[in-house]
Parts: sequence; structure tokens; C-alpha cells
Amino acid sequence: MSEACPITVAKGDGIGPEIMDASLHILKEAGARLDIEEIQIGEQVYSSGHTSGIEPSAWDSLRRTKVFYKAPITTPQGGGFKSLNVTIRKTLGLYANIRPCASYHPFVETKHPVMDVVIVRENEEDTYAGIEHQQTREVTQCLKLISRPGCEKICRFGFEYAKANGRSKVSCFTKDNIMKLTDGLFHKVFDEVAADYPDIENEHWIVDIGAAKLADTPEKFDVIIMPNLYGDILSDVAAQITGSVGLAGSANIGDGFAMFEAIHGSAPRRAGQNLANPTGLLHGGIQMLVYLGQQDIAERIHNAWLKTIEDGIHTYDIYTDSHSKEKVGTKEFAEAVVARLGQEPETLTVKRYPREAAGLGEIKPSPRTNEKKELVGVDVFIDDPTCTPEELGKKLEEVSSDGIKIKMITNRGVKVWPGGFPETFCTDHWRCRFISDAAEKDSPVTHKQIIGLLNRCEEAGLDFIKTEHLCMFDGERGYSLGQGE
Ligand code: NAD
Repeated sequence: MSEACPITVAKGDGIGPEIMDASLHILKEAGARLDIEEIQIGEQVYSSGHTSGIEPSAWDSLRRTKVFYKAPITTPQGGGFKSLNVTIRKTLGLYANIRPCASYHPFVETKHPVMDVVIVRENEEDTYAGIEHQQTREVTQCLKLISRPGCEKICRFGFEYAKANGRSKVSCFTKDNIMKLTDGLFHKVFDEVAADYPDIENEHWIVDIGAAKLADTPEKFDVIIMPNLYGDILSDVAAQITGSVGLAGSANIGDGFAMFEAIHGSAPRRAGQNLANPTGLLHGGIQMLVYLGQQDIAERIHNAWLKTIEDGIHTYDIYTDSHSKEKVGTKEFAEAVVARLGQEPETLTVKRYPREAAGLGEIKPSPRTNEKKELVGVDVFIDDPTCTPEELGKKLEEVSSDGIKIKMITNRGVKVWPGGFPETFCTDHWRCRFISDAAEKDSPVTHKQIIGLLNRCEEAGLDFIKTEHLCMFDGERGYSLGQGE
């Protein structure tokens, strides 16, 4: 028998302590080889002045064990507090979030009797970088960052997960018909990585119709890889349509660190009443055992849990008169699973975890690429609450000199100068595109020319609020064209 694996446990807030006690009880009774260190996170830690909800000393435990089994916490309302989940995911580099969502028909009521989908959500990038600004009185902005290494790691992880777990199809959801550069990169890298896995079917859906199909015919999907925001939203949808959000667990995997949890929150209204379903957290624990190479124990627990569900022993969230036999509390449910350890389901499919499924995570992105980068212009964003497009265009023509000239102005992405429509509604936030005045298309400009341009804008009393450089990479345009160009 292998040695006990050190893990860090946090019992969290709300229903957290109850479902963690229930899950740990099942894990221990099943013979999980774990050496547990407990840390405090959540409400109490926030209120004692730690704005990220975790004490500095708790990081020592996480660094030591490298595996975190975490109950949900209550995120305090109001400004000044950081999301603990986002902090942990980013600090430990947990780039992959794996959320299996399966239905248990005919034992748990669901509109989708045949459903066994794994959502693989990118966990670090996208709009979750938390880089937001109010740029003008009327306009706010959130930066959506998508990197090539980030895409490569999550896409390769998704295919490696599919291979190790005997899954035959991997889908990708993006919105690359609109976000051609950011989601376009995700889709492009997905296609590149997919080519290395010829035995696994692959496909791409635009996220809106993909989401509709997932909600309507989930049986058509197997593994789905998504950028962070779409994965966040659609994994809750996928879990809920299996019967309850309380059923799904989640693994957050990085290079050498991992965190396992339920996908749901701390459900404060249910706290302290022995009501909550511990299944989501238990499923997180099962994923942890697979990660730690204890597939034998993971299978023992999963099959005992399936048998409990088959026997109609259900917590309130999945209890129905037609499908259930006995309504139980958190503790009684855990005891029912413990009593069935060693048994397997008779109708539902017996769960087997392949040995290759352990320790997935260390994926090295390809070496940095070295495309030729050329600066060919700049978008200068200007705050002006009173001007018309024509007035602003005239001012910008006046600052156009030294080889750099105004090409167009857009407002919320719509071209308003030259030749805009008087009907277009304009805010106080103007994107003003400057390019070289050389006759040849995509002629280079210099940083010095841009600084000179900004100086002239300042002298003309223009309130510039940010700039974005326009670059070509190996002759490919690295920026979106203005509408109407
Ligand atoms: P929630 O997931 O906590 O609860 C929503 C509803 O789902 C509950 O009212 C309950 O009816 C049901 N539910 C959830 N888990 C259940 C379970 N195990 N058994 C039975 N029913 C269950 O979502 P919320 O109410 O939006 O959030 C509550 C708090 O949790 C918030 O402070 C939120 O920020 C936090 N949260 C934490 C995490 C996390 O720690 N990973 C994740 C999501 C939300």
C-alpha cells in the first residue's frame, strides 16, 4: 500500500463544514490514504482583516502539500474584498478547471436521461484578469486577455484528459465570429492541438448555439473545452440540468498544484440544518483521489455513491416522490454511502477510473514564437463629452503631422468619422485611429512619432485616456479593423 498523501483541507462557510465532514467521513471509511492539515479560509478570515480571505500562514500548508480540498466559502459583499477562489487559482497557477456533469436517470429526475459531459474550463485568463477601468464618465472597460500559451495548455490538457479517460470527442466553444483575435486565437490553437490527437473526434461551435445545443441535447457532447467566462456559466448550466447543482464536483489543476471542490457555493440559507447534499464536494474528493493515484479508493466511493442514489436515498435537493425512497440529511446520506462501500450499482454504469488518469497537469507550452513585429499605427482613446464627430475630426486633422495622420474615429466600435451617420448615438469615449501618412499601406511608424502625436494632442487640449498600438506580426494584422473600413 502506498504512503498517505499530505493534503490541505478547509471547511469553509455556510454548508461547508457539514458537507466537508460528511465527505471526509466517507473518504476515511473507504480507506483513502490521506494525511490532513487543516487551514481557515472565508468569512472569519475576511472579517479579521485579510482582504483575500486567506491567512498568510495558510499558504505554507498549501506549498507543503500542493493539494487543496476546499469547501465553499461565502464571499463578502461590497468593495475591498478579493475573490478567494480567483486568488488561489491564479497564485497556484491552476489553469484547468474540470467539471464532470452526468445524469443519473431514472434515479434522479432530469430532462436529459443520457448525459455525461465534462467541461474543461480555462481558469486563469479571459475577463478574469480583473483589469477594469472607468475611462470616462460614461464608459467602463474590462480587459479580455487570451494568451497563446494559456490556450495551448488548456487545449492540450483537454485532449490529454479525453485520452486518459477513454473519451472519444472533444468540442470547443468560442465566440470567434465576433472576437476574432482573442477567441480566434483560442479556436486556432484548439485546431492545432486537435491535429496531434487524430483518434479523438473534434469540433468547434460558436458559443451561443453550442450552449443552446448543450442545454437541449447534452447527449451529443463528451468533453467541451471553453475559455474562462463561457466555462464558468455553462458548467453551472450543465450541472443543473443533470438534476441539481449540488451534484457536481470540480478539479482545478496546475503544474504541480491542484485544488478540489464542489461547483456550488456555501448556500448560507441551508447552513447548520443537516440538509445539504454533500455529493458535489464528495465528487471533488473522488477527483482528488484519482489525481493522487488512488483510483481503487475513488472507484470504491463512486460506486457506493451510485448504489446509494439507485437505492433512492436522497437529500432534499434531488428528492421527488416519484424517484426517491427516503429523504435524508447530510449525515445520514454519508452513512448510507459508507454502508454501501464495496457494493456496485445494478442499473447505472459501474465507474472505473483508468490508471493513466492520475497526475495529469504538467503541460509545457511550445517555445515562444518569434514573428517579425512592426508598429504601423496607434489608436488614441479620447474623453470628450461635448464634441461632435466632425468637430473632433477637425481637431485631429490639426494634430496630424510629422508623418502620422488621423484615419478614422469610432464610438463604441461604430465608425462616425469620416462619413458617419448622424443617427449614430455617441458616448463621451472616442477611439481615434492614426496611421502613417506614407502612400504605401501598413507603412511603419515609430514610438517617437506616437509620443510627438500625444504631445500635440495635449497642446490641443485633447483628454487622451489610453493608447493601443497597431502592430503587424509576420505581415498579419494584429488588431481589429474599424467597422466600415
Ligand atoms: P449557492 O451555490 O451557494 O446556492 C444556490 C442554491 O443552490 C442554494 O440556495 C441551494 O438551494 C442550492 N444548493 C447549492 N448547493 C447545494 C447543496 N450542496 N445541497 C443542496 N442544495 C444546494 O449559490 P449562491 O447562493 O449564489 O452563493 C452563496 C455564497 O457562496 C455566495 O457568497 C457566493 O459568493 C459563494 N460561492 C462560493 C463558491 C466557492 O467557494 N467555490 C462558489 C460559488 C459561490
